[in-house]
Parts: sequence; structure tokens; C-alpha cells
Amino acid sequence: MPVHRRFRDVIRIGPVQVATYFDGHGRDKHTAACSAPGCGFSADYPDRSGAELAARTHRCKA
Ligand SMILES: [Zn+2]
Repeated sequence: MPVHRRFRDVIRIGPVQVATYFDGHGRDKHTAACSAPGCGFSADYPDRSGAELAARTHRCKA
């Protein structure tokens, strides 16, 4: 997960972290990223509920 972004409202659902960040163009974006080594799942969503749903339904490959 890039460290230069400013994440807030970070939560963890299983191995997946969900966070909201400001994209620098006046919009908030929401990201879900798996912290398990070897998984590499990471995706951005236009809304928070989408990111949280993805985290909850993530099936970890690792
Ligand atoms: Zn995973």
C-alpha cells in the first residue's frame, strides 16, 4: 500500500484493510487492500460501502 497517500478511517476486516483517502482532485476514494503476504489484492471503489463489501467477501489466495 503506498504510504504517500493520506488514509483515514482505516478499518480491518479479516486480513483486508479498508481506508478512505483524498485523491488530490477534490474527491474521496475508498480502497480495500489485503495485508496477507503473497495475496496482493488491492482495489479502489467509488463508495465506502463497496470497499467494505469487497473486504468482507474477499477470499484470500494467500
Ligand atoms: Zn487476501
